[in-house]
Amino acid sequence: MSSAKYRRIMLKLSGEALAGKKGYGIDFNVMKNISIEIKEIVAMGVSVGIVVGGGNIWRGRSGIGMDRTTADYMGMLATCINALALQDSLENLGVTTRVQTAIEMREVAEPFIRRRAMRHLEKNRVVIFAAGTGNPYFSTDTTASLRAAEIEADVILLAKKVDGVYDKDPHKYSDAKKFDKLTYIEVLEKGLQVMDSTATSLCMDNNIPILVFGLDNPENIRKIVAGEKIGTIVCKK
Ligand code: UDP
Repeated sequence: MSSAKYRRIMLKLSGEALAGKKGYGIDFNVMKNISIEIKEIVAMGVSVGIVVGGGNIWRGRSGIGMDRTTADYMGMLATCINALALQDSLENLGVTTRVQTAIEMREVAEPFIRRRAMRHLEKNRVVIFAAGTGNPYFSTDTTASLRAAEIEADVILLAKKVDGVYDKDPHKYSDAKKFDKLTYIEVLEKGLQVMDSTATSLCMDNNIPILVFGLDNPENIRKIVAGEKIGTIVCKK
């Protein structure tokens, strides 16, 4: 019997999370530690989908003076670099993975095919979703919401630099208050920096809870899956 609280999760790893303290590129130690935790939760019987960001390499908005769509495609390609690095790191630990990309690059990874992704997940393969939604003007947070709905995930685990959602930036204000629980509407109305509003709305419409937590300690992933109360949960009520 599995001791896990969730049957299937969508883990959103931002590029920032993969960069560690360097703030840019990939910190392979950080990636290894995250991979160890993923291996543990797979062993607990949890089915795992992962959406990776690309902000550690390139963000659409970095392209000042550039055509926005071109800059966004660069961002989507950046997520593919992270996806391949994460795949390599997981496979080094013996975890079977598949990378599926929203932009076709056959020599590199499978295209995103929902039914095939479901099959991989049923076979306990970790599926890493790369290239975002495949569309400019979107984010990888929105990708995580979309893919979570498509793969019927129970929850989105949203890894952040801070350990939950606060009413103001805890790095700047010592009196910042952390929320244990929020509704989607509260996040949207208060303009809290959880996900972008498109991603939050998609979760609201499909009733997918979002658990925001700090990845400073990668063991948090395992603790959350085991049912420990960590971070901030965003849900219906
Ligand atoms: N992006 C996009 N469409 C998508 C997902 C991502 O155009 O569906 C681009 C966008 O330019 C974004 C970049 O890819 O800035 C990297 O993704 P994101 O900023 O969400 O990464 P994270 O902040 O999670 O590292």
